Amino acid sequence: GHRVTLYEARDQTGGQFLLAAVPPHKEVLKELVLYLRGQLDRLGVKTVLNRPFDPGILDQERPDAVIVATGARPAVPEMEGIGGAKVFNVWEALSDPGPLGERVLVLGGGGVGAEVADFLSEKGKKVTLVEMREGIALDLVAHLQHYLNLRLKNKGVEILTSTKALRFEGNALRVEDARGERNLTGVDAFVISLGSAPNGELAEGVKKRVSQAWVVGDAAQPREVMEALLEAEEAAVKI
Ligand SMILES: Cc1cc2nc3c(=O)[nH]c(=O)nc-3n(C[C@H](O)[C@H](O)[C@H](O)COP(=O)(O)OP(=O)(O)OC[C@H]3O[C@@H](n4cnc5c(N)ncnc54)[C@H](O)[C@@H]3O)c2cc1C
Repeated sequence: GHRVTLYEARDQTGGQFLLAAVPPHKEVLKELVLYLRGQLDRLGVKTVLNRPFDPGILDQERPDAVIVATGARPAVPEMEGIGGAKVFNVWEALSDPGPLGERVLVLGGGGVGAEVADFLSEKGKKVTLVEMREGIALDLVAHLQHYLNLRLKNKGVEILTSTKALRFEGNALRVEDARGERNLTGVDAFVISLGSAPNGELAEGVKKRVSQAWVVGDAAQPREVMEALLEAEEAAVKI
């Protein structure tokens, strides 16, 4: 029975989950976005696209409650030499792989980095995946780890584990592993997959001005969609 307005900065709803559905065999995730869009229509939620929320909207709308669900953005590491390297983030790589060229090094082999490597190799690129831990996709459940490893190996992706990135040296990445330091060369582009940073900037201002205010999902702390949905629902039922 609440009168709800949804402000979305981009030209469509769905956030990062649209990108989550891009790697091979993950297309089904888009169904959740389509379902939720259907619910917005069915329940008459006023959806304002291409409109970043700003505190001025609080003066106009004077809402009784605000839920901040602004999500997260790719984290940019402060690595020496990064400014001089041809670097892309995960969102860019998944949205438009063309400009990356043929030989791509993905830095960070968590679940997201491994899926990006899977996607890029499917696009015919020669991919190297660099991870400092002893295995890739260690944050995913065991069966997903297993099949990702299998797929990447079958497609000839070079997987370098227990390998720590030290700095960029022009078109090379200086790394250290058990054998010592060396340069990884022959790369057209680097994709950085070293986690996300919350878009938490709005939260404090909103909390100061609106007594019923919540920060949910990746805006509070980058995690996965189930946490985002659960926290959003918990906030909604408290209003
Ligand atoms: C490549 C990739 C793969 C992933 N795979 C999985 C997976 O397999 N399973 C899983 O559970 N999770 C996965 N995730 C994580 C999952 O997508 C996120 O945890 C989830 O989307 C978080 O939802 P959210 O609504 O909190 O934030 P987001 O999805 O980031 O949505 C935030 C929205 O807020 C908008 N916004 C930001 N600032 C403003 C503003 N000022 N005004 C208005 N709008 C604004 C953004 O444009 C965006 O649409 C993946 C993420 C990525 C990037």
